[in-house]
Amino acid sequence: MRTVIEHAWVLTMDPENTCYKDGYIIIEDTKILKAGEGPAPLRGDRCIDAGGAILLPGMVNVHCHVPMIPFRTMGDDCQDRLRRFLFPLEEKAMTPALVYWASLYGIAEMLLSGITTFLDMYYFEEQAAEACDKAGIRGILGETVIGQKTCDSKAPYGGLIYGEEFIQKWQGHPRITPMVCPHATNTSAPEYLQRTFALCEKYHTPFTLHASEMDYEMEEFSKNYHMTPTAFLDSLGLLAPRTLLAHCIHMTPEDLDLVAAKGASVAHCIGSNTKAGKGVAPVKGMTERGIPVGLGTDGPSSGNTLSMFTQFRLFASFHKTANHDRSLFTARDIVRLGTAGGARALGMENLIGSIEPGREADLVMVERGSVNMFPCYNPYSALVYSAERANVSRVWVAGQELVKDGVLTQMDLNEIRRRLWENMGDFIKKSQEFSAII
Ligand SMILES: [Zn+2]
Repeated sequence: MRTVIEHAWVLTMDPENTCYKDGYIIIEDTKILKAGEGPAPLRGDRCIDAGGAILLPGMVNVHCHVPMIPFRTMGDDCQDRLRRFLFPLEEKAMTPALVYWASLYGIAEMLLSGITTFLDMYYFEEQAAEACDKAGIRGILGETVIGQKTCDSKAPYGGLIYGEEFIQKWQGHPRITPMVCPHATNTSAPEYLQRTFALCEKYHTPFTLHASEMDYEMEEFSKNYHMTPTAFLDSLGLLAPRTLLAHCIHMTPEDLDLVAAKGASVAHCIGSNTKAGKGVAPVKGMTERGIPVGLGTDGPSSGNTLSMFTQFRLFASFHKTANHDRSLFTARDIVRLGTAGGARALGMENLIGSIEPGREADLVMVERGSVNMFPCYNPYSALVYSAERANVSRVWVAGQELVKDGVLTQMDLNEIRRRLWENMGDFIKKSQEFSAII
């Protein structure tokens, strides 16, 4: 099956930032065969006239907890919400069915906003994988390992056992990478951080965890180990090219040097970090050192929208304001972080993140006919400063068209919402226990 798209403003996000103003892309089955300027040299089984729309690689969300949809707008302004109600409520109320329908709903939201790959960490990841498989999106799915009982394990660290079975079952899926991940530097004992890392090594998966995110985490490490969390992870041998550190808000220059020297990557979540008032991570210091950085929406409880457009805009505003420099990152730099940068942070740059022959056909079309998209001299600026989720008109993952005219082609969003709501009754009842704080 060959699909030819013509008359698109193609942003390849290849290393040279090649761009075709009246360009074409040829998709052969699941992969990109060719892209270039002018009319396509081959005809397809299907030909699409993009009418001048922007066509870019599918966006890559490098940090998410997609099953947390039921928590959205709950206690958004509550201090220390993670420990006061998120941990206890998810332990009491999350079920496999709820994780499945919430994942499907969140995946639908991501696809509709142009995200074609996401990294997830949660519980019952088996059900997240089933949702991913059904929806057609690409997922790197981590079962969480944590030193407390959880909704899917009565014993602490049950995620290690669940996780290995999960990996064995799903490994080899064309779009799903199953893995295990410790929750954070301070919520798993050092031995379990190492055991989780060893499992990731055994199955050749990425290794990710929350790091240098919380004020109290920084204080604990300083008091208990006289080290930063980054130096501590390094002392355990856990900084490596497979390591993706989520957040990294509180980093010293020495921490950044260490991360760069060990070839580890960073998942930057500007929306959730600033919503919680935690701070603005030193991303310029990371990119200057060559550290791979991708953007994450974080979960729907932490970042609320699962849209990369929100991250683009907040990234620009916060980093420029924090540094008093409007030229600190160009719009093109920011689009790169959300596409090729994310792919590199996940070690998937040879598969996704750019429009080049042989890459997977994960693509997003952003229309320019809507009122907010005219005029458009610079397509990168349009994506960062003008565009919204609603401008996403078409989305492909591995050559399969999953969104057309802004609507899901393979799933019924209303039906997913109905089934999710049906499964939320007990969750809402149990949340009443926390009504004083949420
Ligand atoms: Zn997170």
